[in-house]
Amino acid sequence: MKKQEKTPKELRAWEKEKQLIPVMIRKYCHGKHKTKGEECEDCKALTEYALFRLEKCPFKVNKKFCSFCKIHCYKPDMREKIKDVMRWAGPRMLFTHPIFAIKHVVQMVSYKQKLKKDKKAKANV
Ligand code: SF4
Ligand SMILES: [Zn+2]
Repeated sequence: MKKQEKTPKELRAWEKEKQLIPVMIRKYCHGKHKTKGEECEDCKALTEYALFRLEKCPFKVNKKFCSFCKIHCYKPDMREKIKDVMRWAGPRMLFTHPIFAIKHVVQMVSYKQKLKKDKKAKANV
């Protein structure tokens, strides 16, 4: 039997996100839309869209979270929906997927620091 190939290290975050985005959207749908089992049609469409965007993502290698992306490839309505999902499901992931949730916080802090630094550098020009 052929041994299953291991995901290269630089694609692990991207792979993980592909696994966890549907989990987050389902959690959100259960909590916010009061569904049980499968998600509502809207949330199903959002999952499909998010996975499609991830598949096409130009930043797959050592991927950072979409919230800190400089191009934001989502169309505006989908972006609003996924932001709402992240706001709702993000903190709740601390209990079920703590490493993933903590990585998000760490990236957020370094992203905010970078923004501050860039602002300072611009002010000094
Ligand atoms: S928002 Fe940015 S990081 Fe997220 S899938 Fe689109 S291009 Fe990739
Ligand atoms: Zn839903």
